Amino acid sequence: MKHSPLIGRDYKARLPETSQDNKRKHHYLFMLAGGVISLVATLLIISDDAEAIRSEAVDLPTETTALPATAVTSDEHISLPLALPRRSSVSDTPEVAVDTAPTPPAGKWREVTVKNGDSLSLIFSRQGLSPQQLHQLLSLGKEAKVLTRLFPGDKLRLNITDDKQLAALSYKINPTKTLHITQRGDASTGYLASIEQLHTETRTANSHGTIDSSLFLGAQKAGLSDNLTMELAGIFGWDVDFALDIRKGDSFTVVFEEHYLDGKKLRNGKILAAEFINRGKAYRAVRYTDANGDSDYYSPDGKSMRKAFLRTPVEFSRISSRFNLKRKHPVLNKIRAHKGVDYAAPRGTPIRATGDGKIVHRGNKGGYGRTIIIQHGSRYSSLYAHMNNYARGMKHGKRVKQGQIIGYVGSTGLATGPHLHYEFRLNGAVRNPLTVKLPDAAPLAKKYRADFSAKSRSYLAQLDVLKRSTLALN
Ligand SMILES: [Zn+2]
Repeated sequence: MKHSPLIGRDYKARLPETSQDNKRKHHYLFMLAGGVISLVATLLIISDDAEAIRSEAVDLPTETTALPATAVTSDEHISLPLALPRRSSVSDTPEVAVDTAPTPPAGKWREVTVKNGDSLSLIFSRQGLSPQQLHQLLSLGKEAKVLTRLFPGDKLRLNITDDKQLAALSYKINPTKTLHITQRGDASTGYLASIEQLHTETRTANSHGTIDSSLFLGAQKAGLSDNLTMELAGIFGWDVDFALDIRKGDSFTVVFEEHYLDGKKLRNGKILAAEFINRGKAYRAVRYTDANGDSDYYSPDGKSMRKAFLRTPVEFSRISSRFNLKRKHPVLNKIRAHKGVDYAAPRGTPIRATGDGKIVHRGNKGGYGRTIIIQHGSRYSSLYAHMNNYARGMKHGKRVKQGQIIGYVGSTGLATGPHLHYEFRLNGAVRNPLTVKLPDAAPLAKKYRADFSAKSRSYLAQLDVLKRSTLALN
């Protein structure tokens, strides 16, 4: 997962140099903070997404169907029998023929490295495999789907017979998860897919740091990874403006997961609990996963750490026109209210739903061009105009989540260049999206409160202990 180059820098470095007065400067900072929050939300979303595809290993401890590790890992034309995975509990291919014991594939193993611009179909044709075999593989369903999203540098192991039949394929999705595809019986009956899953061990770690100038420098000094720092900023970013509010002496304490495989650290996991002290005021958050598997961060009394809306629907954009009910329209050249905020951004920049809701309009809307309107509960709605195109699956009645990509920046309708025109309505009346007071996201449901306080107790106690020991040190 790539993260933004923003991480290594002080946010202030991104301020436009040309700000003419403080007021204007303040607006930019404000935007910037909004951008950072939504960026963080984005990163979290992307990483969640990616996790679903590439590393659910850690979240779904399943019975290990571990193979005896094959020692040979590189080079072409490896010819060794691949130990086949047991018919894995993870595989939900329904038509598994349980009675046929797997036989070692008949061909020779070779390893292929995915190149820039590669696809499975290109790889197959380079290896002399027929499009029919590719088609059979891709129609295997869920497990094999990961093969449609290969990344440069990924390695595929292919077992190919002398008559150019694919006998088996294996693909290491991540350090704990490997896809195995084997030929079923004889060549005419297609393939079987299964996922081999290795157990990881989860440990709890913690980190504490004090800030001199910026959160990122303080976190770096404390040895906190960039990803965890982004996550930390995402959790508290709704309360603390990390560009404007940070003061020397602010501090943070983080309790987080670490995932280990065979005693070796694989990667960091989620932040379980954290405290941020900003100008003497302490904010605390605890992660909680409810019975539906939805995770979020809550204050110790069960309030959401989030607001119901993101301030900004596009990252790394520039406000090109503000909310102004007496503006001269740039295309029509006459006074016409500007009922929203314009964000100039390159064509194709993703646009995100600012809150959870339901699409109530998707289509052309006069001068607005391609437009989506989302209804959020009974009181709020948001509008996104001049879209180049809609994200896949967006249609009338569709439910969307906060931060979900709904479309892409364009200049459809009456627009001088690519930008997003964004409107925010409360009880049907337009409000300035930059200044409207945003409601809190829903608190933890009552039915989870008892469970939440039981589970959060030990994390909060850890934060207390860490705080006491660092106070003692100072
Ligand atoms: Zn506009």
